Amino acid sequence: MADFDLDLFVIGGGSGGVRAARIAAGYGARVMVAEEYRLGGTCVIRGCVPKKLLVYASHVHHEIEDAAGYGWTIPSASFDWPTLIANKDKEIARLEGAYTSNLDKSGARIVKARAVFEDPHTLRLSTGETVRAKHILIATGAAPSHGAAIPGIEHVISSNEVFHLPVQPRRILIQGGGYIALEFACIFAGLGSEVTVVYRGDNILRGFDEDVRKHVRTEMEKAGIRILTGCTVSRVDRQGEAFAATLSSGASIVSDQVMFAIGRHANVAGLGLEAAGVALNPNNGGIAVDGHSQTSVPHIYAVGDVTHRVNLTPVAIREGHAFADTVFGNRPTRVDHADIPTAVFTQPEVGTVGLTEAEARAQYSHVDIYKADFRPMKATLSGRDTRVLMKLVVDGLTDRVLGCHIVGPEAGEMIQLVGVAVKLKATKADFDATVAVHPTAAEELVTMRTPFARHVRQAAE
Ligand code: FAD
Ligand code: NDP
Repeated sequence: MADFDLDLFVIGGGSGGVRAARIAAGYGARVMVAEEYRLGGTCVIRGCVPKKLLVYASHVHHEIEDAAGYGWTIPSASFDWPTLIANKDKEIARLEGAYTSNLDKSGARIVKARAVFEDPHTLRLSTGETVRAKHILIATGAAPSHGAAIPGIEHVISSNEVFHLPVQPRRILIQGGGYIALEFACIFAGLGSEVTVVYRGDNILRGFDEDVRKHVRTEMEKAGIRILTGCTVSRVDRQGEAFAATLSSGASIVSDQVMFAIGRHANVAGLGLEAAGVALNPNNGGIAVDGHSQTSVPHIYAVGDVTHRVNLTPVAIREGHAFADTVFGNRPTRVDHADIPTAVFTQPEVGTVGLTEAEARAQYSHVDIYKADFRPMKATLSGRDTRVLMKLVVDGLTDRVLGCHIVGPEAGEMIQLVGVAVKLKATKADFDATVAVHPTAAEELVTMRTPFARHVRQAAE
C-alpha cells in the first residue's frame, strides 16, 4: 500500500521479534526491526545463554570435587572470573553476529535504534527517522524490577549487571526466591562465593510443587547456601568496599555485592502506547492481547515478555512465529500455553511440566502420586551428599499423567522429553509400558509402580 513504507515494523530484536520478522519476511513482507541495545535480546545477550555458560562453569567445580572418589588427583585447581567473563562475552558477540546475519539474510532490515509510537501507524526512531507501517509488532520484552525505593537501592545490582562484574564477589547476598535468584545463588556458590538468599515468603520457588520446593531448598542448603525466609532487604549501606544489608528481621549481612532478582516488568515505559491507543492488562502491566497476540488496536500485535503471559524464550519464539503465520502466512495460529515444560538451572536442576500435586488435587477428585527420592549412582563413589526427586501426578480416574516434577542432574534435559508424553496425554500405564534405559536416573520415571499416596475427594468436599 503506497501509504505505508513497510508491511511490518517490529519493535525489539529479541527472541519473539527476530522470529516474527524472519518468518514474515519469508512470506514476502517488507519488514524492519528496531533494536535499541543488542540484537538477540535478553535471552542471548543477558539471559538464558550467558547464564547457562556460567552454570556450566560452576559445574566444573563439582566435577573437580567429585573426581577424587573416581581415582583422579587434581592438583590445586584454581578459577579466574575475568577469563570466564571474557570467554562468555566472546561467545555472546558471536551469537549476536549470527542473529544479525540470519535476520539480514531473511530480507528484514535492521535499525539500531529505539522506536516509539507517534501515532497508531507511525514510529519515530532515535535516529530521527519516522516510518509508517501497515502492521506493528511490539516485542520489547521485560526489564528487572527494583522493588520499593529503599535507602541504598543504588548499590543494588540486577541480572543485567551481574554478567559484567569485573571481579567475582567473595560474598554475595541475593534477594528473591524465583528462577533468577536461585540460579545465580547456585552459580556463585559453585564458583566458591559465600551466598545468602533472602526471600520474603516461607519457602523458595512459590508456584512449584511443594516437594520440589522442599527438595531444592535442602539441596541448596547442603551446598552451603544460606537461605533466609520471611524477610526482605530494607536498606543497603556502603561499608568501605563492601555493603551492609539490613533485613526486615533486624539482621545485618555484610557482602561484596547485593543483587535483587525480584521479578521483571513489561518494557512499556515511554513507548508511546497512549499515542497508539494500545491497552495494558491491568492485572500485570503487560500489553493486553487475545489468543492471536492482537492488541486492542487491530493492526498492532504484541508477543513475548511484554505481554506477561509465560515469560520464557521458547514461548516468545512461538508467539512471534504464530503472529507471522497468522498475519502474513494466511494461516491463523494460536499458541497453546498449556503444559509448557520448564527448567530452573539450580544445582541440582529442576524440570517440571503440567500440574503440581496441589493444583491437581484442587481440579481432580482422584489423584495418585508416585514419588522416588534416591541417591544418584554418580554420588556413590564421589561421596557427594545429594539426592534426586522424581514425582508423577496422575489422574486416578483416567490414569492420565497430569504433571511430572524432577530435581536432579539433567532434569532440564529429561523434562523436555517427558513434556512430549504429557502433551500427548500419556497415561501412567503408557509410562509403565515403556522399557527403562539402564542404568540412568530417568529410568525411575517408568519404574515407579506403587502409588506413594492416593487422594480421593469426597463428594461433599
Ligand atoms: P527480549 O528478548 O527481552 O527482547 C526485547 C528486545 O527489545 C530487547 O533486546 C530490548 O533491547 C529491545 N527494546 C525494548 N524497547 C525497545 C524500543 N522501544 N525500541 C527498540 N528496541 C527495544 N528463558 C528461558 O526460556 N530459559 C532460560 O534459561 C532463561 N533464563 C533467563 C535468565 C535471565 C537472567 C533472564 C533475565 C531471563 C531468562 N529467561 C529464560 C527469559 C527469557 O530471556 C525471556 O523470556 C525472553 O528473552 C523474552 O523474549 P522477548 O522477545 O519477549 O524479549
Ligand atoms: P520470578 O517471578 O521467578 O521470581 C521473583 C521472586 O522475587 C519471587 O520469589 C518473588 O516472591 C520475589 N519478589 C517479588 N517482588 C518482591 C519484592 N517487592 N520484594 C521481595 N521479593 C520480591 O522472577 P525472576 O526475576 O527470578 O525471573 C523473571 C522471569 O524470567 C521468570 O519468572 C521466568 O519466567 C524467566 N526466567 C526463566 C528462567 C528459566 O527458564 N530457567 C531463568 C530465569 C528467568 P513471591 O514468590 O513471594 O512473589
